[in-house]
Amino acid sequence: MSTSATQRLLIKNGTLIDGSGSDPAPNELVSIERNRITYIGSRDSSLRLQGPDDTVIDAAGKFILPGLIDAHCHISLHQGALPGVRYTSSAEFCTLWAAHAIGGVLCAGVTSIAVPGGKWFTDVTLREAVEGGLIEGPRMVVAGRALSNYGGIFDPDPYPAYDGNPADAAGVLCNTRDEFIRETRRQCKRGVDLIKIADSTWGDIQTVADDEIAAVVDEAHRHNVKVTIHSRGSTSTRAAAKAGVDLIYHADWASEADLDVVAKAGIPIAPVLTSPWIGVEHGAAGRSFGERVRDRLRAQLDTSFQMIRNARDRGIAIMSGSDTGNASAFSHGKWHGKEAELFVKEVGMTPIEAILANTSGNAWLLGLEGEVGVIAPDRLADIVIWNSDPLADITVLQRPSEISCVIKDGRIVDREAVGFRQLADELPRARMV
Ligand SMILES: [Zn+2]
Repeated sequence: MSTSATQRLLIKNGTLIDGSGSDPAPNELVSIERNRITYIGSRDSSLRLQGPDDTVIDAAGKFILPGLIDAHCHISLHQGALPGVRYTSSAEFCTLWAAHAIGGVLCAGVTSIAVPGGKWFTDVTLREAVEGGLIEGPRMVVAGRALSNYGGIFDPDPYPAYDGNPADAAGVLCNTRDEFIRETRRQCKRGVDLIKIADSTWGDIQTVADDEIAAVVDEAHRHNVKVTIHSRGSTSTRAAAKAGVDLIYHADWASEADLDVVAKAGIPIAPVLTSPWIGVEHGAAGRSFGERVRDRLRAQLDTSFQMIRNARDRGIAIMSGSDTGNASAFSHGKWHGKEAELFVKEVGMTPIEAILANTSGNAWLLGLEGEVGVIAPDRLADIVIWNSDPLADITVLQRPSEISCVIKDGRIVDREAVGFRQLADELPRARMV
């Protein structure tokens, strides 16, 4: 008795860079059924079974990679200014903005993102809308508003004379251990995947106390929610490692002794070099920074490059994130591949290592280790086909124009229909998060 054949998506020819760290290999056939990769190998046996409804992609001369995973990509954090919109920070506009911006991320070959902070619970709702099939977008894990105390980067009160907690701020004030716990519970209840703690902007002081970090970790982990922290400082990074956070963002000023503690705790670091790099090269919010800020960012970058080399020497996993969506200069879809270039040119990774950091190395943060980030049988079919070889030129990953095809969850993304347009946005405000 014959059963009706499943409609398949077949990729033939091309070069396979599978995200496992293996050498690139000639591809004969990748077969996808529904949302999973079912077969990789010789074409002889399988293509004979090709049915009239199968879709065949000829990738001759092209490069087949796992979809990129960006471990630091904001969606609702910053809206820019749109002519005629009086209040871009409203929950309503943030939601519309997020629905607009997410398409640009997917079209750039990014099939999964972690969102470490945003406004309202916009990103939770967006994640649900993508999961529900209402909107095309990458797989998402999301935080809510960043937990920040006085002086932290997300302190919603820039002016000490004013004491408030505006509902539309990207940070929520938590100034006692109990307030940290209460906000963590509130966000867990609302459905976040991550908690984002925010220490000081530059790391010169530690604003969040050791026991506050530990309290958040205890609370979040009981809810099976991961904890991330904006930590540029030395003591904050050490405290975060001791408390058992899941991921440290930045860690610029971590000393070798601090990194020993991080290594012993087995905690990865996502340095997010792209953010200060954009600051140095392009400024933010469509205007350049003053020379003083630029010098500071440049020095910070040099410190970070050395810190990552020190971290790698200790076997600390280095994850890749771009800080897309932080400010107007951090346009969605534009910079997701920049971190890979900095990893290769400034840190000394091989291109294969940089690709791993942007694919399989980030999968655990999505809770999808062993499911995405590698092209292998039984994995979810998140695949991007590039026209040029990223091993020969790692900057290829920054150029959506080099993309031949994006496949997410076994379906070819209709990049025309997703219809992302770059808006001329300009908002005179810059944050390095
Ligand atoms: Zn950020």
